[in-house]
Amino acid sequence: MLKLDFHPSGRHFLQIPGPSPVPDRILRAMSLPTIDHRGPEFGALGLEILAKIKKVFKTENPVVIYPASGTGAWEAALANTLSPGDKVLMFETGHFATLWHKMALRLGVEPEFIGLPGYEGWRHGVQADMIEARLEEDRDHEIQAVCVVHNETSTGVTSDIAAVRRAIDAAGHPALLLVDTISGLASADYHHDEWGVDVTISGSQKGLMLPPGMSFNAVSDKAIAASRTASLPKSFWAWDEILEANKNGYWPYTPNTNLLYGLNESLDMLFDEGLEHVLARHQRWAAGVRQAVHAWGLDIQCQDPAVYSPVLTGVVMPENIDADDVRKIIYERFDLSLGTGLGKAKGKMFRIGHLGDCNDLTLVATLGGCEAGMKLAGVPLKGSGVVAAMDYFAEHPLPSVK
Ligand SMILES: *Cc1c(COP(=O)(O)O)cnc(C)c1O
Repeated sequence: MLKLDFHPSGRHFLQIPGPSPVPDRILRAMSLPTIDHRGPEFGALGLEILAKIKKVFKTENPVVIYPASGTGAWEAALANTLSPGDKVLMFETGHFATLWHKMALRLGVEPEFIGLPGYEGWRHGVQADMIEARLEEDRDHEIQAVCVVHNETSTGVTSDIAAVRRAIDAAGHPALLLVDTISGLASADYHHDEWGVDVTISGSQKGLMLPPGMSFNAVSDKAIAASRTASLPKSFWAWDEILEANKNGYWPYTPNTNLLYGLNESLDMLFDEGLEHVLARHQRWAAGVRQAVHAWGLDIQCQDPAVYSPVLTGVVMPENIDADDVRKIIYERFDLSLGTGLGKAKGKMFRIGHLGDCNDLTLVATLGGCEAGMKLAGVPLKGSGVVAAMDYFAEHPLPSVK
């Protein structure tokens, strides 16, 4: 027997920071019949997508597309560029940085995990000076790669990737720069070429507004050169055969055809609107949501306003309240999903996603669900966040940039 209250009327509010709500236009594009992945139509589609996707990463170099979640593209980045026992410098910004570190250990490289201490460390972005100092100590250039997360989805904190590039250069160090922007791409400003990133990792289900199941490696010439000698085992993830097949718009194995239809539609939507407009839209939503948090009298997880995430906002609960109890009430009463606190932030905060197929009013409704649920959970609120966000959105029309 289906429980009726599991199927409420209207749309579920999927306000977790990925998977994000998928626009109907993309769902419709994905519903077209699956075609022959070796046929001529497919090759034309592949070439079109492979050309267009570069513009989102802001690169002239190839972007490898995998039929895998973001985690697969993490593994691909490490497996293609590193050899067993290689030293890697990773920075602990939050839960996703921690998972990537765990993966590096399992793959048999030697990651060194640096960062600011404790839970408080998860309230700031990458400290480029710490990376510079560590690389300067590494006189023999044993460290092969620096790995950082651009938009730490567990906390709502971004990191200054250009500053990390400057730190590596200031230390005169040849390490590769590997960056996870799985949740940042197409929502937070990102420049693969300009920032001198060697491998950028991303995924489909966040800023690209697609369902989960597809992920990316944007690669520099230096990364491709490294992949020719790197000796971690790789086959499915190996760039060489994929790049070769991609020249004609194909893949060495069956790609996820219908997700590629969706990606093509997503890229059209992003470019029709204008990428800069898309980025400004996310900044504005994030600012409105922060107004709400301030009005509630609550704390934002990110402690450094310069690196507030445009993608999501972490809302810290008072000491004596379990954030997951609040989330549960909000889910059960208002059919609204919010992100849970992960790792060191478990129980301390919840996350509001403001990415994907949203608009001002879906966010006002989301904040309404948060506000009503927090009241039910006994969270003392100073004022109305909903009103503050409505006022912010009303007073700050989105400028037309293209
Ligand atoms: C979502 C996410 C991941 C994991 O991606 P999956 O698609 O769940 O494998 C890794 N890093 C960041 C920053 C993410 O947001």
